[in-house]
Amino acid sequence: MRQTRSRRRWLIGIGALVMAPLVGWIGVLAFPQVVCHHQVRAGVIRLYYDDMPEAAARALAQAVDHRLRASGFADSAKTVRAFLFQRPAAYGWITRLSGVPREAQGFNLSLIGNTFVSGPRVAALGEQSGRRPRYSVWEGDPAHTIAHEVGHQYVVDRIGRRALPQWKREGLAEYMANIGLIRADSTAGLVSRLGVFDDDQAWSATRGSARNGWDRIHYEAGLLVEFLMDVRGHTLTDIAADSVTQEGTRTALRAWAEPR
Ligand SMILES: [Zn+2]
Repeated sequence: MRQTRSRRRWLIGIGALVMAPLVGWIGVLAFPQVVCHHQVRAGVIRLYYDDMPEAAARALAQAVDHRLRASGFADSAKTVRAFLFQRPAAYGWITRLSGVPREAQGFNLSLIGNTFVSGPRVAALGEQSGRRPRYSVWEGDPAHTIAHEVGHQYVVDRIGRRALPQWKREGLAEYMANIGLIRADSTAGLVSRLGVFDDDQAWSATRGSARNGWDRIHYEAGLLVEFLMDVRGHTLTDIAADSVTQEGTRTALRAWAEPR
């Protein structure tokens, strides 16, 4: 009896030792306010930040809110959380805890509803490319990156945690991040951006001159989803269907764009 009790005590002790870092780890990812505690709110977004002037944070939150609302997918009754890190060490720590590459501009943990973005990583990509092409990951605008990551959250909120192919996942996030600005930009029609996608020169300042560069893959995915949504009138659920394929959508987009 005594032996059983002492063994149980041992087990509880070992359990506590194992659980303590786990609880701390989940705690920091679920409540990163501990390390990123300033906040501003604009519409559907609550933006937490560690180190930037409040006026700049407020303008950024408004830009994100504008993008999200214009996408048509924002739920005005629900506020989403994003954490913008200017301090590389804090962001590096968060990426390590999440198992995400340190170089990622941002990422979304949909399970706990938090988006994380690195200000310096976003800025570095913009500097490297001269902020071109517009509406690509090279534009160096944290509002784009935050809205893209929140877009991933919106997809999970609406259709659940089902596995979507990469082009649908990234294309939907790009669509939600950019479509409001694209519709207001007369130089950014679908056909002209298809031209940007095809132009190796447009991507030559970046590592993405190869067609299989992740930046260009994201850009094309955005075009494909935009075609399905805005030209074909698909809903999110339609797009998620297995019958909608990347090759089929590419062919249909080219056939539509050809005479234009
Ligand atoms: Zn993404």
